[in-house]
Amino acid sequence: MSLPPEMLSLHKMVRKHYLSLPKGEECQVTYVWVNEGRENLQSKTRTLYNEPAGIRDIPEWYGTDADHSEVTLVPVRMFRDPFTLDPDKLVLCEMVNGKDIPTGSNPRSQCVTVMDEVKQFQPWFGMEQEYILFGLDGEQLGWSPDGHQLQKGSCEAVGADKLCGRDISMSHYRACLYAGVKIFGANSEYLYSQWEFQVGTCEGIEMGDHLWMARYILHRVCEDFEVVASLDTKPIKESNFSSGAHINFSTKEMRSEGGLQYIEEAIRKLSKRHSRHLSVYDAHGGADNIHRLTGQGCTSSFHHFSTAVASRDVSVRIPGQVSRMGCGYFEDRRPAANCDPYPVMRALVETCLLGVTEEDDEKMKEILAS
Ligand code: ADP
Ligand code: MN
Ligand code: MN
Ligand code: MN
Repeated sequence: MSLPPEMLSLHKMVRKHYLSLPKGEECQVTYVWVNEGRENLQSKTRTLYNEPAGIRDIPEWYGTDADHSEVTLVPVRMFRDPFTLDPDKLVLCEMVNGKDIPTGSNPRSQCVTVMDEVKQFQPWFGMEQEYILFGLDGEQLGWSPDGHQLQKGSCEAVGADKLCGRDISMSHYRACLYAGVKIFGANSEYLYSQWEFQVGTCEGIEMGDHLWMARYILHRVCEDFEVVASLDTKPIKESNFSSGAHINFSTKEMRSEGGLQYIEEAIRKLSKRHSRHLSVYDAHGGADNIHRLTGQGCTSSFHHFSTAVASRDVSVRIPGQVSRMGCGYFEDRRPAANCDPYPVMRALVETCLLGVTEEDDEKMKEILAS
């Protein structure tokens, strides 16, 4: 059961009193980590008696795994806390020493290793996170229980008959700015309660860190509004609409004069390693994207790689302005909304910059099988 609106506003008023109580030098630090399924976030808060000046001042800690076993939390990136304000912190952690996660083998640290190898390329990323808002009580905002769309949405629309949830998008945007998350922009999407925000432009591993923290902040903002943001690729099975997480990518060469040739070369390499990318572009090894990438609703085919300038129904798009300027970046539209950014970034860099091919994947499979 969800709270009646008047109770919700009473709660928020009462909370204001407690948050205004005087506090000394103590600092509340909220540890945030991605659980073993690499899809959901967890967090817990503790007191530090001095404000940490940087990530090294925040001690390792421990959290609880889905099976109640203990995991070690290693702080990797610190943000300001937009909910309880300065000097409180949000800190993204790597989870290590979990049951199946030996130190150094979690998806983030593997991505760090690869990003170190390609540092000289100065790889930049930007990701577009789409999500759909649901009420509690299982109600889908703007949808009837049988999956029928009650209200017509439209991309980048204005007007209460075309969208709902602008308060959430706006609150999330400002909370990200306060926290120090590199939020690039936000817009309403094709469904009545579907929104997008973009994170970037980030260099290297920073991309995944900022995206995960932006997702955490989104879920916390939604708690305040008593709604739920779904990062499912297709939370409404009956509909053609889906949520993606397009990734934009460039290197120093691609951004410089004549860079288009490097962009085209990278896309040629991507076209020859399509299946490997799709196996890490959603949270379930391709099982979600196969229903999303149908060629309808601004998506491409799951089975075949495609590319074009300024087109939105291809795997990889070269933005029109990049084509005209002859340099810039490209957009890989295949990642699903629920993807873990680290393996996505890693696959991109391995294919485009380190020359890893489908044959290498086959060889690796044989080695692992023997
Ligand atoms: P779209 O037109 O696909 O909807 P958006 O405006 O939603 O694009 O998002 C653009 C994204 O591209 C942002 O995340 C931004 O950080 C990223 N971006 C812009 N320039 C570059 C670049 N040179 N390299 C990598 N990413 C970039
Ligand atoms: Mn976009
Ligand atoms: Mn979009
Ligand atoms: Mn896009």
